[in-house]
Amino acid sequence: MAHDAPQAAGHTKLVIRNIGLLLSGALEKPILDADTIVAENGKITAIGRLKDVDTAHATTTVDAHGTTVAPGLIDSHVHPVAGDWTPRQNQINWIDSYLHGGVTTMISAGEVHMPGRPRDVIGLKAMAIFAQRSFWTLRPGGVKVHAGAPVIENEMVEDDFKELAAAGVKLLGEVGLGGVKDGPTARKMVGWARKYGIQSTIHTGGPSIPGSGLIDKDVVLEADTDVVGHINGGHTALPDGQIRCICEGCKRGLELVHNGNERSALFTLRTAREMGDLNRIILGTDAPAGSGVQPLGILRMIAMLSSLSDVPAEIAFCFATGNTARMRALDCGLIEIGRSADFVIMDKAQHSPGKTLLDSVQLGDLPGIGMTIIDGIVRTQRSRNTPPATSVPEIVGH
Ligand SMILES: [Zn+2]
Repeated sequence: MAHDAPQAAGHTKLVIRNIGLLLSGALEKPILDADTIVAENGKITAIGRLKDVDTAHATTTVDAHGTTVAPGLIDSHVHPVAGDWTPRQNQINWIDSYLHGGVTTMISAGEVHMPGRPRDVIGLKAMAIFAQRSFWTLRPGGVKVHAGAPVIENEMVEDDFKELAAAGVKLLGEVGLGGVKDGPTARKMVGWARKYGIQSTIHTGGPSIPGSGLIDKDVVLEADTDVVGHINGGHTALPDGQIRCICEGCKRGLELVHNGNERSALFTLRTAREMGDLNRIILGTDAPAGSGVQPLGILRMIAMLSSLSDVPAEIAFCFATGNTARMRALDCGLIEIGRSADFVIMDKAQHSPGKTLLDSVQLGDLPGIGMTIIDGIVRTQRSRNTPPATSVPEIVGH
């Protein structure tokens, strides 16, 4: 099993220099004109040209060797259970494997794979609080897992949401995975959750595994969750007409997942683009699921969406970084002063015909990851999971 994230001792100052391309994560300006980032005590303190920023007294210096730096990727839809283990496909170290795919933050859509998951109200509340606490204490490889996402049941009352919020629960699991499957009840409870600062998501589309059910456009629009969870199905998608109705009928987040229907993901992306709503697109894997664990799932979504649509690669990276961070009020996901120093450093994969990293992604190739950094601390170097990067960054000073 992976162990607790290494803790930085005392003051830290990270300098990343010689950056060839800096992706911001922000749709409005996806590429920044800078070659150096400085982070102190885990937060970004300077972004600019080497000669203009204070790099003195660094505790760690990384030479990016001309490669690409982006915010660490955010997986908006995972189903963690306990520590770095999942019973769904009985795998250990799956979160650590995701880190090797560039994912530094994960959002739970419900700890629904917990064996013997309690469905009574006090039991489901206790499990949510337990999951929130345990994943914040144990961060596999340093990955920030936002967990503790209860799945709502019909017997819940407003005070339950108030109590959950007071205990630190900030998310609901996918509406529809529990007993609440009708629009009016879902809307009432989502409203209670929102009142107490708890974000919500919903299972969209056909049943994912035996025991789950259909959630169609009418339920999705009536429930009015903050995120339309896997609008491209998990895996069975709604008909295109219903997906269009959801896109046009609300302003909520449109989540596209790896464990979903790729054609429907592209249809959603096209629809959002026509509407001028690309800021609503966020990415997840929905793993672990029936289709397994996908350590490169977010990178694969970025390459798939970019190569099969007209969206440039630097925009597709925003779907997995800044868009999600803004929608979910996270302090990471953007290269901005004051944000968490969570980065993924990449280069085009060896032998990709693409001329640059962005060109290779637009051709449908996955980038090679050379390093991940969370809270200003180097967590991994050359990825064990991606195709090998052409150039890799190097730690040149401690
Ligand atoms: Zn689902």
